[in-house]
Amino acid sequence: MSFCPICKSEFREGFTFCSECKTELVDELVEEKMLAELVEQGYEIFENWVCVKTFSEVYEAKQIVGLLGDNSVHAEILSQSDSMFKLPGSFSLVRVMVQVENFKKAKELLKNYA
Ligand SMILES: [Zn+2]
Repeated sequence: MSFCPICKSEFREGFTFCSECKTELVDELVEEKMLAELVEQGYEIFENWVCVKTFSEVYEAKQIVGLLGDNSVHAEILSQSDSMFKLPGSFSLVRVMVQVENFKKAKELLKNYA
């Protein structure tokens, strides 16, 4: 089974391209395997989003989201006031989340950012 990374449509074996989104399909297993590896490494995962960095202030997180966005990595801020993710318990940190397919690129971009 293959999936379109954009519209998430499922495709039968043999298809390699989503004609709707003009993009190559991905093997879901790759993403699942990577998520499992990241969990093992201690990363926080919410659905297919990975926390790449945490901050105590929202403005700091927004700078990172801007930096990633400038490099075409879509990032979201997860904070207490955010209703996008439903999490149990309380959390005081502001998290910068990227989708798992952008994780490597995001880490690369953040490597030089202290
Ligand atoms: Zn598609």
